[in-house]
Amino acid sequence: MAEPIQAVKGMNDILPPESARWEWFEDTVRALMRRYSYRYVRTPIVEPTPLFVRGLGEVTDIVEKEMYSFTDSMNGDALTLRPEGTAGVVRAVVEHSALYDGGKRLFYIGPMYRHEKPQRGRYREFYQVGVEALGFGGPDVDAEVILMCRALWKDLGLGEVRLELNSLGQPDERKAHRAALIAHFEAHQDLLDAEAKRRLHSNPLRILDTKNPAMQPVVEAAPRLMDYLGEASLKHFDGLKAMLDAAGQPYRINPRLVRGMDYYNLTVFEWVTDKLGAQGTICGGGRYDGLVELIGGKPAPGIGWGMGIERVLDLLQQVGVQPPRPVPDAYAVVPDAAALPVATRTVEALRAAGVCVQLHAGGGSMKSQFKKADASQARFALIFGADELAAGVVAVKPLRDGAATQSTQPLDTPAAWAAALRTP
Ligand code: ATP
Ligand code: MG
Repeated sequence: MAEPIQAVKGMNDILPPESARWEWFEDTVRALMRRYSYRYVRTPIVEPTPLFVRGLGEVTDIVEKEMYSFTDSMNGDALTLRPEGTAGVVRAVVEHSALYDGGKRLFYIGPMYRHEKPQRGRYREFYQVGVEALGFGGPDVDAEVILMCRALWKDLGLGEVRLELNSLGQPDERKAHRAALIAHFEAHQDLLDAEAKRRLHSNPLRILDTKNPAMQPVVEAAPRLMDYLGEASLKHFDGLKAMLDAAGQPYRINPRLVRGMDYYNLTVFEWVTDKLGAQGTICGGGRYDGLVELIGGKPAPGIGWGMGIERVLDLLQQVGVQPPRPVPDAYAVVPDAAALPVATRTVEALRAAGVCVQLHAGGGSMKSQFKKADASQARFALIFGADELAAGVVAVKPLRDGAATQSTQPLDTPAAWAAALRTP
């Protein structure tokens, strides 16, 4: 036998029955997006490396150590597998002048790539669903994108997920805060790890985002950006809070919430659960009013979020939510291969009429075929036996409902009795 080839470390196969959870999740997401008037956008998985270096910021975890970057050996182009969705969507919107006639509400679903240490809730290929609302500057859209997450938790049957909120203000406000932050961390140099020391002067705000437990006290004591916000920033934040209050959505203000990319300003938020261990953030987002301009477009505000699908599905499993399992309406049993042409013609007609039919494949005895029919959880077995065919009928045997009795249906008019098989 040939040497087996395995999947790349940190990248997962999703097979049935597990894949049914994914389909159900994505169907639920698409229905939600329609209700909120967000339209689907699809951008390439590979982008020019400078898009992320410029867009996300040079001194960020992602750009410094997590990107799958490579040189296209055919032409020398510097390329990167997208580590997140926002930069690509903004590039596409700018490239196609999509904001020429006003704001756009967009969503995407797809894989992202980060070279991280694989563990529960942390993979090298993982999936995100995300939204981007571009061209809207007010806190009303902040509330909208946050509340659509709450609606999704409800649609999925998830219980309480905690909303954490912060404001990063504007660049000039961050500049004043930055000086105070550097002074604070310089005064406590001995408590900083190597990464924090390195970032002290290049990107001190990032230090607040540290996952090092030993640094929590010094980070906790750091000056708060919230205290440096001007009137306009505070007004935006108050506006958002008033709308969340009115909608009955509780939140916790977390002054340490800074998010992993440099493009954010004003509102930032995360949805967090305690049920997933260390990887408890299932969704994160915020406002990025400078990004469109940074990527070469006419200045336009934006806000969005990205949600880790693996983590949401893990949480669903933790709280015991079982998505509906896809089962066929009918399982066609064909004891004699001579009946296959008639069976094929009939099940095709039933499928065309909207019935989900699984046609037995691989032969075998009547008994073994019935075992398969049972295991499929179909509501009916269709029996294409020699006697039935001779009489021009197929036997329809209810498999789930003990009280119902077997009947026969004419082979020449399947469309006439298809409706009785269809799941209501
Ligand atoms: P973390 O702090 O856990 O590293 P992050 O801040 O890097 O997350 P974002 O860039 O905000 O994550 O991405 C949005 C969401 O995508 C996260 O909240 C999480 O649910 C998910 N996510 C991020 N990285 C991974 C990964 N390596 N594997 C699986 N899901 C991930
Ligand atoms: Mg990360």
